[in-house]
Amino acid sequence: MDLKDFIRNVPDFPIKGIQFKDVTTLLKEGEAFATAVDYMYEPFRQEEIHKVAAVEARGFILGAALAYKLNLGFIPIRKPGKLPAETLSEEYELEYGKNAIEVHTDAVQKGERILMVDDLLATGGTAAAACRLIERLGGDVVGVSFLIELTELNGRALLQQYRVHSLIQYPV
Ligand code: AMP
Repeated sequence: MDLKDFIRNVPDFPIKGIQFKDVTTLLKEGEAFATAVDYMYEPFRQEEIHKVAAVEARGFILGAALAYKLNLGFIPIRKPGKLPAETLSEEYELEYGKNAIEVHTDAVQKGERILMVDDLLATGGTAAAACRLIERLGGDVVGVSFLIELTELNGRALLQQYRVHSLIQYPV
């Protein structure tokens, strides 16, 4: 099964010049969704991991499925103002704009090994900020797992200190 067949490219969304990789066309097909999660699970199945963290919103879908498969707890990393209890916040540059993300301060225990998940690696700013949040709480990031990587944007440069894995690559 070629998972690329299930990803829809939407030109000029949400702004002109962006080739948006739409994963809803993969998620709605049971076998493709399960295959994607199984392949994302494989490289990390032998790792000692304590929790899975993922970034709102598409990251949650894959991250929660991976957490279930690994029999681990799940940490949501969310847009500002969404998490109800005490939070830490990190700013980052997006491929199209600027943003911030937050995590609950009690989400991670010191020394816990965390697998970070998102749907897509573009410039790497989102994932790097998410990893900084985990580290500020005393956690160790054991890996960063993406369904899709836009290789020409060189997001790996911001994630050099981590083990980065992506399942599907496009230039942009
Ligand atoms: P970045 O911080 O630049 O690596 O951007 C990654 C985040 O933005 C991910 O959470 C993606 O969901 C989203 N994103 C950025 N570029 C795209 C794109 N071309 N297609 C779909 N999602 C994207």
